[in-house]
Amino acid sequence: MKAFDYDLGILGGGAAGLTAAAGAAQLGAKTVIIDRAGKLGGDCLHHGCVPSKTLIRSAQVWALARRTAEFGLPPLQLPPVELGTVMDRVAEVIARIQEHDSPERFCRLGAATIFGTPHFLDDHQLEVDGQRLTARSWIIATGSRPALPPVAGLETVAAWTNETVFAQRRLPQRLLVLGGGPIGVELAQAFQRLGSAVTLVEFTGQLLPAEDEDLAVLVQARLEAEGMKVRLNTKALRAERAGNEVRLTVTSGPEAGTEETLTGDALLVAAGRRPNVEGLELEAAGVDYGPGGIPTDARLRTNQKHIYACGDVNGVYPFTHVAGYEAGIALTNSVMHLPRKADYGKVPWCTYCDPELASIGLNEKRATAQGIDFRVLTERFSDNDRALAEGETEGCLKLLVGANGKPLGCQILGHGAGELIHQWVAAFSGGTRLSTLAGAIHPYPTLGEIGKRAAGAYFTDKLFSDRTRTILRLLFQLKGRACAVEEPDRSR
Ligand SMILES: Cc1cc2nc3c(=O)[nH]c(=O)nc-3n(C[C@H](O)[C@H](O)[C@H](O)COP(=O)(O)OP(=O)(O)OC[C@H]3O[C@@H](n4cnc5c(N)ncnc54)[C@H](O)[C@@H]3O)c2cc1C
Repeated sequence: MKAFDYDLGILGGGAAGLTAAAGAAQLGAKTVIIDRAGKLGGDCLHHGCVPSKTLIRSAQVWALARRTAEFGLPPLQLPPVELGTVMDRVAEVIARIQEHDSPERFCRLGAATIFGTPHFLDDHQLEVDGQRLTARSWIIATGSRPALPPVAGLETVAAWTNETVFAQRRLPQRLLVLGGGPIGVELAQAFQRLGSAVTLVEFTGQLLPAEDEDLAVLVQARLEAEGMKVRLNTKALRAERAGNEVRLTVTSGPEAGTEETLTGDALLVAAGRRPNVEGLELEAAGVDYGPGGIPTDARLRTNQKHIYACGDVNGVYPFTHVAGYEAGIALTNSVMHLPRKADYGKVPWCTYCDPELASIGLNEKRATAQGIDFRVLTERFSDNDRALAEGETEGCLKLLVGANGKPLGCQILGHGAGELIHQWVAAFSGGTRLSTLAGAIHPYPTLGEIGKRAAGAYFTDKLFSDRTRTILRLLFQLKGRACAVEEPDRSR
């Protein structure tokens, strides 16, 4: 057998790369991680999930402080926010987690780290800053970066992206946000709550375009109620800076061609992602790729069977938990030589706006597109006792059930939806039946009861039907109603 320097080489020390490295090293594979950033952790830790959720938390606290009167407490006079202090906390949280993602920790596990910019020389060998090394298998996990939409002059206005926004120290009075996907919505709401007047521009006719429209409309209503201006069906054409002001010329609505200029003190671009493939010289390794990333088969293998692509770089699902899942599949295939395949049917996700919007399985949009017959069971948070006590009654849970009574998907828009979806992650992963969910005992009063009620609703019509009443009356001589209320005649 050919001698390689490493059993496994990993390009990129982010969510996917680090998951693969930790597993491979602990299985006894000689493993090296190569990352060009000079630190481990990737986008999720430095420019993504961690800083955004930390910023969102500060914004949530501030939004709650504005609501004291709703809870019978005195209203507070709130001073302006110092963005720098908020970002200091963001940096502290990153630093705490960074300790866990240090090269020393990975070295203790048995994986080496090299910081530098690699490029392939052939399908087993690459060079990193003058050093050549070979590996039997490679995992490409180089992630993605913000895509800049074709807006004339965008490069001249120093627009913020997720790579720069968390380094800002001054809260803009007016913030323009380009992009109404999860990243745009989350950050737009955080800045609005911290005190910026935000205008969000979205090209399509719906915020969070992957989600069901009825839920996205509720998110939009909340953002607007908090003071944000949301511009749907609006395309950015040109950006320019005039002194301290950014001007964004847009065209919107059915009369495309009518231009309008929006102004702000800063512009945040959150308009999609691009895979990081440049500079890797994938051609030298014979690895195919395209604008959407590096395609793989279900075992996460590229067209070169010993080279895998996991995480954002393969363009499948841009989530940290998917990156980790895929890394586990690639690891099982590359190190243990077991032919494990990825199954994306049970991938959950959550947009951490407030209220949160979490999803698993099919929603109405996806089920309709796939021509699947379904029924929707909806439970509102306003009917949940705990939600009333918490003062968080917005939103609902939508459970999609197939013709055979099998749960197909669950969407939750509401306070804590990102936590509430776990019940459904467990149910979908374990193939739990609706009757089991409906029969389970939950502690009262909790938001989680909403899931049991939705599952129970599937049986309510059948159980409390005229037919059941008739059968019970015949069998046990039940006497029927003890009381009736005269309903007002609403026909007049
Ligand atoms: C603002 C924001 C918020 C987000 N919030 C969430 C969230 O709440 N939940 C969630 O699940 N996901 C979230 N995501 C998505 C999540 O960050 C990504 O899906 C995840 O980081 C992908 O992991 P990865 O390993 O593929 O890439 P990354 O974690 O980005 O790691 C890639 C690594 O590769 C390195 N690299 C890049 N190019 C090269 C190269 N040529 N050579 C060597 N190294 C290279 C990089 O330095 C980096 O360390 C968010 C993203 C953003 C931008």
